[in-house]
Amino acid sequence: AKGNGKGGWQRYQSDLHTAMMQRLEMRTALYEAIEQEQFVLQFQPIVELIDQKITGVEALVRWQHPSRGLLGPYHFVEAAEESGAIVGIGDWVLREALRQFTQWKTENPDTTLRYVSVNVSVRQFRSADFGDQVRSALAASGARPEWLLLEITESLVLKDADKVLADLKALRAMGVRIAIDDFGTGYSSLSYLRQMPVDVLKLDKSFIDDILHSRQQHALVDAIVTLSHNLDLAVVAEGIEEAGQRAALDAMGCRYGQGYHFAKPLWPGDVPAMTEQYEPYP
Ligand code: C2E
Ligand code: CA
Ligand code: CA
Ligand code: CA
Repeated sequence: AKGNGKGGWQRYQSDLHTAMMQRLEMRTALYEAIEQEQFVLQFQPIVELIDQKITGVEALVRWQHPSRGLLGPYHFVEAAEESGAIVGIGDWVLREALRQFTQWKTENPDTTLRYVSVNVSVRQFRSADFGDQVRSALAASGARPEWLLLEITESLVLKDADKVLADLKALRAMGVRIAIDDFGTGYSSLSYLRQMPVDVLKLDKSFIDDILHSRQQHALVDAIVTLSHNLDLAVVAEGIEEAGQRAALDAMGCRYGQGYHFAKPLWPGDVPAMTEQYEPYP
């Protein structure tokens, strides 16, 4: 490597050093954030497409950073996975989501809310005591296992299949339900999923985006919905932004949806009002 002034090799070394320092700082900051409880949750409604009643909510983590303000997962989830901090963050998310959800169920036993959906990273799922984490979080909140839906990704299912399978089966035996998140972005097929202990398939937004403009995309989503139902999987279409998409998915027999058309992620204080007096779009 050559360069002028500061040599290429030296520059490379110093860039590497800077990158390493940044990673270290980020790691420290993430662990501090867990200790100081700087994470917060928003909840995005998941609705019945037919009448737009809110049937569940997905917990989405944000970092209330002391100097940088409110940060979305895009800014820190990858670093949290690399550093392992996601295990602690994920445990907090699980506990807080269940605590909050149980409070809503207690305050309004007639709520249309049936479950809270929680994202689980591969790293967290693979930590030795994930099953214990879930049991302990359920016990601490008083939540029923049926109120919890765990969202995992296809990549998790594909790796180390035997251990993952056993863990998933144990969770399901307790009554916890499992969803495959972002379906369609990975490599697994529906025939493969048939063998998996999974209850819900979340169809990625990239599949929904073009259904009104591409006949092929429409046909593909239609086929996935039909096949999923034959495999006893419920389908949630993600990223619905337009009334036309809701109508098209409803016509295909897809029962559930999530997206800005219905509601953006909400602060916890805004959720109860949505479940009590939600007025469907025309
Ligand atoms: P995801 O699990 O696919 O979550 C859905 C994301 O899509 C959310 O972004 C949500 O705000 C956004 N979204 C929902 N409806 C629409 C729509 O109609 N249009 C568009 N353009 N976007 C929509 P968010 O909150 O920024 O989260 C991004 C990702 O971060 C999540 O994707 C998930 O993979 C990850 N994440 C969030 N919370 C957690 C967590 O507690 N643990 C872990 N491990 N990952 C999390
Ligand atoms: Ca998700
Ligand atoms: Ca998703
Ligand atoms: Ca997605």
